Amino acid sequence: MIVLPDLQPLAEGVYGATKLFHPARNLYTNAGFIVIGRNIVHIDAGMTTKDGEWLLSQSMKIAAVKNPKLWLILTHHHSDHIFGMRPFKEAGARIVAHEDLRKFLSKRMPPFFKTGINTTKSYVIKFMVERFSYTKENAEKMLEGVKLFLPDETFTDEKTLQLDGDELLLLHTPGHASSEISVYHHTSKTLFAGDTVYEGRILTTRFGGLREWKQWIRSLEKLELMEIDRIVPGHGIICEKSEIRKNIEYLKKLSKRR
Ligand SMILES: [Zn+2]
Repeated sequence: MIVLPDLQPLAEGVYGATKLFHPARNLYTNAGFIVIGRNIVHIDAGMTTKDGEWLLSQSMKIAAVKNPKLWLILTHHHSDHIFGMRPFKEAGARIVAHEDLRKFLSKRMPPFFKTGINTTKSYVIKFMVERFSYTKENAEKMLEGVKLFLPDETFTDEKTLQLDGDELLLLHTPGHASSEISVYHHTSKTLFAGDTVYEGRILTTRFGGLREWKQWIRSLEKLELMEIDRIVPGHGIICEKSEIRKNIEYLKKLSKRR
């Protein structure tokens, strides 16, 4: 069965994309974009060039402006969120991410392999074969055309993007990955949480240990203080703020067992 990605309007100019490709069964990746004046701000690029192209074609159609100012914000360095970045870069998007993402991409963040699905295409193909029983040919075909680019701009703690009288807050929310950020649009009270928030499924905690899980809890507690009407999580359906509490409880239980 072929599952097609889905685009949902969430508020004026705000869109959430779900059901993008992920190699695991019944797990999909999310992304989204916000149209503000002449700006089209994408949050995450999906895992395939095809999904990246699809996301970009959707936003260009909706924004319907000549020569838009394109942005691509990457929530963290894992392949399921960044491997679709090529069409954005080729269309002239300015890529913004956490400084750790730049370090991971330039392979200056040891131990590199420990992050599981990481940023080397050959590694991800091997991972798809070993873990998700793809043939090498199929995995290569899925990742055809994948090319990675370093961000144009990075930050460490937080950053505000000023956009034609509106703004986006980029917050470092480590835990799932050290490069993890959340993107908050105050005007629509929408949070693009990346993999800081999981909806309806068990959180992927294998990239860290007790220290990272505690960090993750603190990140979620910080988000919980914000005015949020809806969350676009990294995986799962677009959800309500209450999902944050569920994630915290899960991580607390997990931490206690250690
Ligand atoms: Zn993910």
